[in-house]
Amino acid sequence: MAVFLHDTMSREKRPLLLKPGHETFGMYCCGPTVYGPAHIGNFRTFAVQDVLRRTLEIAGLQVKHVRNITDVDDKTIRGAQAAGQTLAEFTQGWTDKFHADCLALGLLPPHVEPSAVVHIPQQVAMIKSLVDRGHAYVAKDGSVYFKVCSCPDYGKLNHIDFSKLQTQAENSAGEANDADEYERESASDFALWKSRKPEDGANFWPSPWGEGRPGWHIECSAMSLAHLGATFDLHGGGIDLCFPHHENEIAQSECATGVKGFAAHWFHSAHLMVEGEKMSKSKGNLYTLSQLVDKGFTANELRYTLISGHYRSSLNFTFAGLESARSAIAKLERWTDRLLAVAGFSRADFVAPAVQEVQTAWGRFAPAWEILQEDLNVPGCLGQIFTVVGEKDEVSPHQAREDVCGLAKILYALGIVLFVAKDGVALPATIVELGARRWAAKQAKDFAAADRLRQELTAAGWTMLDRKDGYDLRPL
Ligand SMILES: [Zn+2]
Repeated sequence: MAVFLHDTMSREKRPLLLKPGHETFGMYCCGPTVYGPAHIGNFRTFAVQDVLRRTLEIAGLQVKHVRNITDVDDKTIRGAQAAGQTLAEFTQGWTDKFHADCLALGLLPPHVEPSAVVHIPQQVAMIKSLVDRGHAYVAKDGSVYFKVCSCPDYGKLNHIDFSKLQTQAENSAGEANDADEYERESASDFALWKSRKPEDGANFWPSPWGEGRPGWHIECSAMSLAHLGATFDLHGGGIDLCFPHHENEIAQSECATGVKGFAAHWFHSAHLMVEGEKMSKSKGNLYTLSQLVDKGFTANELRYTLISGHYRSSLNFTFAGLESARSAIAKLERWTDRLLAVAGFSRADFVAPAVQEVQTAWGRFAPAWEILQEDLNVPGCLGQIFTVVGEKDEVSPHQAREDVCGLAKILYALGIVLFVAKDGVALPATIVELGARRWAAKQAKDFAAADRLRQELTAAGWTMLDRKDGYDLRPL
């Protein structure tokens, strides 16, 4: 059975399959602009993309995941100048922060993470091709614009009638688009190359049209061409990128290469609301992972919350939702503890398996896996998981083993981790083992051994909190 996913362009649910003769499934996702910390709205998109990648990999596809870093644009240049740093120093700091957040949230690192600055020669080459083919023109100041009227099928992703298209002033989420205020022939044209301005400081590069820097849209076209070729399997991003960014990417790429079918499938995730309101700087609700950790939540709880709604519906993020995620994870842990004991396993055996190692059957979690493959239905998948977890029947050791393996596998698909420490850091294996041995000793009423193992844990900087039906390990 293949993974089926809604495609924004065809508006149909379609199977994601390898093209004949291809070994990898090429997936390009628009990455962060590194001028500040990414907020939970950005991470909803990246977490959903991560679940898709894990699902495809478990389904047997070898995915090549490319996600770029936007490290040159108006915001990064302004930020670097305000911070008194070079653009490279400034963007590296925020790139490092982004990577740390991704790691905490359990996002698998992309196979290629191209930087826009590193790919300026490729962007210049693509713009040159567009000028040569009559799809772009050079303005008096040396800026270069894409001539939208030269691309008859412009608008096909968003089903926009080009004759009615006047402007690129708003994006597909209805927000103001940072329109390029340069000399355009038509309001619908967009900048490919921006001529050097005094406010750019030292951030300019040479081109056949004079010094300047690339426009924003062209970077994804140039980097996807460099790393996935003229056509590839899937392109992802938040819904706000659908217009004009992705529409412009299609036009630039197809006009520059002359090859139609830039991305075979378009995958957009809906908006995140916060406590029923739109996210905005002025409302102060652009939460970051660090802010939520400071409030006592873990990255794992945030991830659970961000993926818990269907990716095509807007998700209302609330603190009550984070609390529910905490309870849900605790419930999964209690159930797993009970089954581990029946199976004769310890928590040390319950590690989320790497995809290659997953050979086990899904057992009672087969319906959870099936529904996940149907348009990445995470809420449906969680519903199926809790149907199994809610069953109170006694199970045989064999059944318990199968259940524990099935749960580990489905949680790996979702990227949800059990038995993590309070600060979101995965427990060291030695600590997990000490905890499991102490719990076993206590269950066997060998209190001397249990005390000795507790002292070993304390010496290693950990404490064990016993509950009736399990325990938690916390750093001291
Ligand atoms: Zn992009």
